[in-house]
Amino acid sequence: MWEPQGVDIATDQSLASAVPFPDEFRTFEDGDVLLHRSEAHVVVLGERAHRPLAVHHPTQDVATRGIRQRMEDQVAHRVAFSIIYNHLVVDNHAEPALSSATGETPDMFDVLSAERVLAIQPHYDDNDIAAGGTLCRLARRGAHVVYLTVTDDLLGVIDAGIDDATATAQLRAEQHRAGAIIGVAEHRWLNWPDAGGLDHVVLRDQITEVIRDTRPDLVITCDPWLRNEAHQDHVRTGFAALEAVLLSELPRHPAAGAPHAPTAVGIVYSNDPNAVIDTSGVQIERHAALDCYRAQFDATGLTALHDAIDRHERTQAPPDATHGEALRVMNPGALHCAVRPAVLGDRVTVFGSDQ
Ligand SMILES: [Zn+2]
Repeated sequence: MWEPQGVDIATDQSLASAVPFPDEFRTFEDGDVLLHRSEAHVVVLGERAHRPLAVHHPTQDVATRGIRQRMEDQVAHRVAFSIIYNHLVVDNHAEPALSSATGETPDMFDVLSAERVLAIQPHYDDNDIAAGGTLCRLARRGAHVVYLTVTDDLLGVIDAGIDDATATAQLRAEQHRAGAIIGVAEHRWLNWPDAGGLDHVVLRDQITEVIRDTRPDLVITCDPWLRNEAHQDHVRTGFAALEAVLLSELPRHPAAGAPHAPTAVGIVYSNDPNAVIDTSGVQIERHAALDCYRAQFDATGLTALHDAIDRHERTQAPPDATHGEALRVMNPGALHCAVRPAVLGDRVTVFGSDQ
């Protein structure tokens, strides 16, 4: 059942010496890195399929059996693992769709090489909460960064005593202040009612038009497959944005503007990351931007947000870094019918073997 896949990741000795690793297996959370240094094993599991993406066992079969048993135990408890270091990517970030399968895995798009970025968020603070450091680094490297906010975000305003116009003015002012810190070149809004239901096709076509107009090489949005996500603004924004990425290059799509095909998508708020950006050098900007968001956080909430984000990003920092932002980088071709050959083993019923 557990077949090795992917690259020979255990040859990277720098990783073995750089990544902290617990002495014993424990219950892992999504996004945790699992590197068993003493057994010279690297194990990478994908949470969606509850199976390893790579298992390297160069020396000890006994230990391998042990690791498999422990992995199966973890999977039985529906606990997921993933490994997120850029240089260890073995995931299906760029797997080709069946129709264009070549047997080769294209190189992962270098997120920080993007020149034009469209970051599509359900609410006014999602881009900065999920990827403020990454977006700041992109802007500092000269990328043209556009934020597209899908909802009016009025439901989340904590002061029930102000009218919608006043609340909207505060939200916009805060967003502009944060954007100036991050380096956002332009803000756009679609003004759907916050938590009021999003029509998939209408929203998708609105986003398609923005993609054609802004012509990003990198589109960033939230993960519509995030397990336990109950907020439909996030689920629907993710689906609409990712389908818009697929459709925006089709000349017969009626959205205004010339067809355009983004090079890559970066999916944030994901339990299935395959890349991490070193954001150690932009922590001041990253947290200063968050500090702007007062309409929806009181002082206690804002402190808790800073603390949670700091803890989160320290946990997933790459080697030699203090902070990292993880995301899932995908070739748009992997967003449609991207089926990989399955190792079926003995868990399937075979028909037609008698010919
Ligand atoms: Zn949100």
